[in-house]
Amino acid sequence: MADNKKLVSEITSMDEDFTQWYTDVCIKADLVSYSNIKGCMVIKPAGYAIWELIQKHLDARFKATGVQNAYLPMFIPESLLQKEKDHVEGFAPEVAWVTHGGLEPLTERYCVRPTSETLFCDYYRGEIHSYKDLPQVLNQWCSVVRWEKETRPFLRSREFLWQEGHTAHATFEEAEERTQQMLNVYADFLENDMAIPVIKGQKTDKEKFAGAEATYTVEALMHDGRALQSATSHNFGDGFAKAFEIQYAGKDNKLHYVNQTSWGLTTRTIGAMIMVHGDNSGLVVPPKIAPIQVVVIPIQQKKEGVLDAAYDIAKSLSDYRVKTDDTDRTPGFKFAEQEMRGIPVRVEIGPKDLEAGKCVLVRRDTREKIECAISEVSAKVGELLDQIQKDMFARAKKHLEEHTFVAHNKEEFAENFKETKGFVKAMWCGDRECEDKIKEEFNVTSRCMPFEQENISDVCPICGKPAKKMVYWGRAY
Ligand SMILES: [Zn+2]
Repeated sequence: MADNKKLVSEITSMDEDFTQWYTDVCIKADLVSYSNIKGCMVIKPAGYAIWELIQKHLDARFKATGVQNAYLPMFIPESLLQKEKDHVEGFAPEVAWVTHGGLEPLTERYCVRPTSETLFCDYYRGEIHSYKDLPQVLNQWCSVVRWEKETRPFLRSREFLWQEGHTAHATFEEAEERTQQMLNVYADFLENDMAIPVIKGQKTDKEKFAGAEATYTVEALMHDGRALQSATSHNFGDGFAKAFEIQYAGKDNKLHYVNQTSWGLTTRTIGAMIMVHGDNSGLVVPPKIAPIQVVVIPIQQKKEGVLDAAYDIAKSLSDYRVKTDDTDRTPGFKFAEQEMRGIPVRVEIGPKDLEAGKCVLVRRDTREKIECAISEVSAKVGELLDQIQKDMFARAKKHLEEHTFVAHNKEEFAENFKETKGFVKAMWCGDRECEDKIKEEFNVTSRCMPFEQENISDVCPICGKPAKKMVYWGRAY
């Protein structure tokens, strides 16, 4: 099957060059193509369909917690961006500016939103007057622009898609509760729908969001041992409210500042899915977010009855997202394409199978072949999809556990990060100086202080002072 070989041979092996493998998969699985605008990608239908399912699953979870969707402008006046000092310092180096409206120079330049805290603050200031106006729990699905120097499909692009939730509450405690609630929503979505196990924790002050009191994160481990921050949730306390004068009259008839949160997940999630589950034949997409869950491939489709049998099987699978590949390409090519695109299950049906009243199911994740009576195909596919979803999570979880190491001293840090093998857990005294030292010396960042703490030792491995927290370290995307 020469054409089969050709389709696959153009992917670099992930063991040879993981970076090139990733790019090859993005292109060959038809997820993206490059555009004329440097650092911006075209998300093609196969890629966008995955994003639509991510949106669908996540949006349902958001709404179950009382979130409503809204849409705010994409431009932020410079004066508005500058109101919160830490925030503007964090984002100013990478914003794109609009200086003209038509032919006329603007009296004040606008940036294209890199994130919308300032706009939501401006909006909330007009909306919130009394405790009766609280809480405000809004989300928007949109794109944002950050002028990145180096870009890669899904992982880093100058314009990317995301959702950003922004809420306002009467008290710090309520804001904290919402911050953690949304982190749990992300973890639940990533683990149950994307089959990506995550470490939940808090960012150190050095790594937290510009303007936040506390940033929580869900960190995932990619196949090559690098970390990927998969979603974040921030508690701003009343910092933004003070900068933007967002006050409400409480039940006590006094004025109080609101407490705010924000939380986001981006198209990077698709990059995480590729790098957690993919293999040398291409994508492996978890059934719950696979745009096509089953493809029916007729073999010797010109033989009498084969094509009709394939259509009948597809009809019996109408509870799932199913497609029949009746094009006149060879079965070998179709198999390779199913593997490249990561379609969880393929059904093969040929003249001999038809005679015996059977078909063959093939799992994308394990390549296991299962004979199945045509009359039972619907029930069997349903079982298989559930099983694949569970097995994919279990495999990723095992990889995470097997690639999480402990460092009691600098030597053990060096050993792990000589080549990136995975996460390193180590104790930390809490001083910025030690965090900076580890970053410089081993070219890694603190990923989070996990909620599930362990006591590895009593002292910081860098300075020997008493340890305060256990930290996950990693080389990140
Ligand atoms: Zn220390």
